This record gives sequence, structure tokens and C-alpha cells, in this order.
Amino acid sequence: MRVLICGGGVIGTSLAYFLSLRGVEALVVERAGVANAASGKSGGFLARDWCDGSPLEALARRGFDLHAELAGSLGRDWGYRRVETLGVVASARRDVGRFRRLPSPDWLAGGSAVHGKLGGPDTTAQIHPAAFTEAMMAGAAERGARLIEGCVQGIALAPDGARATGAVVDGTEVAADAVVIAMGPWSLLACRWLPLPAVYGIKGHSLVFDYEPSPVSLFVELETGDGETAAPEINPRPDGTTYVCGLSGEHALPVDPADVLPEAGACARLRRMTASVAPALAASRVLAEQACFRPVTADGLPLIGPVPGIAGAYVATGHSVWGMLNAPSTGEALTALIAGDAHGGVDLRPYDPARLERLDPGVLVS
Ligand SMILES: Cc1cc2nc3c(=O)[nH]c(=O)nc-3n(C[C@H](O)[C@H](O)[C@H](O)COP(=O)(O)OP(=O)(O)OC[C@H]3O[C@@H](n4cnc5c(N)ncnc54)[C@H](O)[C@@H]3O)c2cc1C
Repeated sequence: MRVLICGGGVIGTSLAYFLSLRGVEALVVERAGVANAASGKSGGFLARDWCDGSPLEALARRGFDLHAELAGSLGRDWGYRRVETLGVVASARRDVGRFRRLPSPDWLAGGSAVHGKLGGPDTTAQIHPAAFTEAMMAGAAERGARLIEGCVQGIALAPDGARATGAVVDGTEVAADAVVIAMGPWSLLACRWLPLPAVYGIKGHSLVFDYEPSPVSLFVELETGDGETAAPEINPRPDGTTYVCGLSGEHALPVDPADVLPEAGACARLRRMTASVAPALAASRVLAEQACFRPVTADGLPLIGPVPGIAGAYVATGHSVWGMLNAPSTGEALTALIAGDAHGGVDLRPYDPARLERLDPGVLVS
């Protein structure tokens, strides 16, 4: 069996890895480089129980466990480590001392306060997102998967229009027994080819600093100097860098992933926000100023499963803020579904694409 996966983000490459573990031939088609989008520019923060009580609980818990297993078994380094995670309050305008419940890491501004522990090494962890996504692709390739550099331009259907037979890649039809749309926010474009619900992109900016403080993840509630509130997230990494995100963008998703750029002034603003929390971090060298779009759906849950009415067509996208965490559990469970194994991985029914109305492709401008 040959499965063609459209998109080389963390979802597409994780699926390729789990398919190839089972001896299924996987072809990943990627137009702008593996991990060029959110899967290379995210926080890489993982939490075991933060989705408890929601429809994501099983996917997240399995994702967390699989990350630990993969880190121990794949023989590659993507900076996986368990960390303590703290909740911080900071303000550039007022004293927040009354929120202080725990001692602050010594690299935080004197005016910030740690109000609680959000997770410990048993429940929270970090990865380097690009390194993880690339390792999934490399692990898949070692087991026979192939990466095709090219742009998916459509899905090939059988004459009755009810079965996928491959995809059109840069004008050439590539045959497959099954096709999976895993193009992150660009999965919206696949609504032209298949009866799929809408997927939207929400833009976020991030900075990577040349700075390695103590290993801890921080979720900050910040009041800026101009009285706005913000929620930066700070993830020091074992490669000597620190990642900061937490500033959204206004621009719409460009058709070409290579055209995603930071907006004017956004990275300077994120750096000023960082300075209110961690002055030495904000003063260090900036290694990357970047932006990316996370894929979201109308009800906030991912779309994972068969495309209604088209045999052999599947979708795996819309993972929003938990795509890194939930990529392995998505890959494992979708592999079981495609391979016809009813008992493999988590129950995907809460994420069935059929729960949402299909988007009228006529509303998409070309
Ligand atoms: C700022 C930010 C921080 C985040 N932090 C975290 C975090 O800490 N933890 C966590 O779990 N998640 C986090 N996320 C969410 C996570 O990054 C995403 O959910 C995840 O990366 C989505 O992966 P994906 O594979 O679906 O999409 P993408 O990474 O967008 O990959 C889609 C791929 O499809 C390719 N593609 C598009 N169109 C075509 C085409 N026509 N032909 C071929 N290829 C195509 C693109 O080039 C791209 O490589 C964060 C997201 C953002 C924006």
C-alpha cells in the first residue's frame, strides 16, 4: 500500500514515520521544505494533562507518552527534556508582589512574580520543533518513506469521483492508494479538491535568543508599559537558545508558505515585552525573528480521519496550539485507521471531519 501525504510539517512527517514502522510505503510531498512553517517555529512545549476534561484528553496524553518513547528509541537528539513550568505575573506599570507565591528564577525581572507551578518533570516537557519534525522524516526515510519536493496542486479521483487515486504534484499525477491532506493552515486550499470543512490560520510571532538560562518553561501574564495585556511564553532550550512567542499578527495566510514573514514592528514589540519579564534575555543577541500560522477549525478540534464520501482520502490538520504535542498520537492513530486496524491508537471519532459542514469552495478566491 502506498500513502501520499500532502505537507511535510510535524503532522505529515509523524504520520510518515508511523506508516513506515508498519511497512506501509509513505510519500511526503512538501513545497517549501520540511518544518518550514509552524512545525519549525513553534514553542515545542508539551503537557501531559493540560487537555484533561476536553475532547483532546486521550490524544494529548498518548502524545505526551509517545514523545517520551520516541526520545528514547529513535537514536536522534531533538532537545527532548522534562521541565518545571511556572506561571508568572509581570507588569511594566505596577507592583505585582502580592501575586508572589514561589521564588523567581534569578534571570527574571525583579518586578515579576511567580504565582504558581503549572507543571513538573512528570507532566511537562520540551522539544526543539524543527529538529523533531526533521527527525520524524529521517526516521521514516530510514524505513523506506520518501520526501518529494513539490507543490500539491490537486487530488486525482477515479472516474466516478468517489475514490482518491493520487495527487497532482507540479503538474504530474503521482498515484497512491490513499492520500492524506496534512498541509496545516494551507489545508484550506484542499477544500477546492475535496469536500472538507474550513481550516483557518492564526498568525503568531516569535524570537529566538542566544541565551541559555535555567531549564524551565514560563507562561507569563504581562501588563505592558502602554497598559495592554499579553501572554508571552518563554522556553529556554538545551541548545543554548531561548524561544519567546506570544504576539499575534493581522496579515492573512499567503498562498505560498515561503511568503510568511513577521509584520512591521512586531518583533521589536515582542522584544520589549520580553524586557519587562527578563531584561538580560531581551538584551541578548536575537538569532531569529519569525512568524508562522497555526491551523484551527470552526470548533477548535482537529480534523483527523476520512474525507466524507471520498474513499482513500484522509485529512489530519487543525491541531491549533497543540500540534507538536499531538503529532505522534495523530500519526499512530491515523496509521491504524488507514491500515484497517480498528484497535490501534486513540479513538479518532471526536475529530471526525464529518462533524463539520464542508466549505463551499466557491467562497475561496484564487
Ligand atoms: C507561535 C506558535 C507557537 C506554538 N507552540 C506550540 C507548542 O509549544 N506546543 C505545541 O504542541 N504546539 C505549538 N504550536 C502549534 C503547532 O506548531 C502546530 O499545531 C503544528 O506545527 C501544525 O503542524 P502541521 O503539520 O499541521 O502544519 P505546518 O507546520 O503548517 O505544516 C504544513 C506543511 O504543508 C506544506 N504545504 C502547504 N501547502 C502545500 C502544497 N500545496 N503542497 C505541498 N506542501 C504544502 C507547508 O509548506 C508546510 O510545511 C504553536 C504554534 C504557533 C504558531
